[in-house]
Amino acid sequence: MSGAKKQYRIAVIPGDGIGKEVVPEGLRVIEAAAKKHGVALHFDHFDFASYDYYEKHGQMMPDDWKEKIGKHDAIYFGAVGWPAKIPDHISLWGSLIKFRREFDQYANLRPVRLMPGVPSPLVGRKPGDIDFWVVRENTEGEYSSVGGRMFPDTDREFVTQQTVMTRTGVDRILKFAFELAASRPKKHLTSATKSNGISITMPYWDERVEAMARNYPKVKWDKYHIDILTANFVLHPDWFDVVVGSNLFGDILSDLGPACTGTIGIAPSGNINPEGDYPSVFEPVHGSAPDIAGQGIANPIGMIWSGAMMLEHLGEKDAAAAIVTAIERTLGERTLRTRDLGGNADTTACGKAVAEMVE
Ligand code: ATP
Ligand code: MG
Repeated sequence: MSGAKKQYRIAVIPGDGIGKEVVPEGLRVIEAAAKKHGVALHFDHFDFASYDYYEKHGQMMPDDWKEKIGKHDAIYFGAVGWPAKIPDHISLWGSLIKFRREFDQYANLRPVRLMPGVPSPLVGRKPGDIDFWVVRENTEGEYSSVGGRMFPDTDREFVTQQTVMTRTGVDRILKFAFELAASRPKKHLTSATKSNGISITMPYWDERVEAMARNYPKVKWDKYHIDILTANFVLHPDWFDVVVGSNLFGDILSDLGPACTGTIGIAPSGNINPEGDYPSVFEPVHGSAPDIAGQGIANPIGMIWSGAMMLEHLGEKDAAAAIVTAIERTLGERTLRTRDLGGNADTTACGKAVAEMVE
């Protein structure tokens, strides 16, 4: 085959706080990997979804934000939030949550992987012992906003909130998770449930897991109630390969998982629209970290690793793998580490070290 190679268009949004410091390091490493593996990338930079933009314009994003970034192949996002100046419900709901909803990013994806040279809070665990993915349903379930409050401020006060599961919503996240499991060597999927206590929606979830599993005869699957599942994350992290959960259960597991693998500064995530009708967002798990912003000491590895997830999502597996290997080697050599990992390297030095490792 001949013809022009595809050039990916990436929307870059640094946002607030350390987002502005780690994004340039992520781009440095992505560019090194792209150059080495012949991937053509074009970056468009945007200053919205930040407190600075809000201060000037009275809103987090321009009215035509969807036209500005909706046609890009992916969005590379730093962090949003500056609680001293603007409440989180305005900054988050005015940016990231809008992306999730309007770009139908129904799968939230986080790796849980113990990296060499990073101490795990789980005693005795070595790299290789912990290596799985958490897949969270991102659009419905327990976070439905369906419900209400009656007889407020009386003895009869009555409050409800419903869990909403649709067949479309449940099946599409399960399909995404089974596909991921099928692509991995262990081919193992674990479903988070609580059908012994939540008697209508969770048995439905279990039923759909069973139905979906029939399409993936090579994938071994099991299920655990969320209470014992969280215990097993800590006691037996080596049991897992792909773990899928509803919006609430997935939320809990996707924080617990990375916590088992050391610092929040290295964990990446994707908010994914698997069909590719809209761009997916790749961002570190950490926030804008106002307490250390402006000092140049943030760990850029969560941002860099998010870049590897983005390249993988775009289908550029070699470039993605080169970044993950470079992160492993940089962390493993222990010579250059940011303060959260007990070293004294700054953000830029760490980014440059990973970029050189890629080259
Ligand atoms: P969110 O914005 O998701 O609500 P948060 O504001 O509660 O999160 P973070 O901004 O993630 O929390 O910061 C939590 C703590 O972790 C802070 O003390 C911060 O300094 C530290 N931290 C977060 N990210 C990094 C990083 N990349 N490098 C070093 N320390 C970090
Ligand atoms: Mg915050």
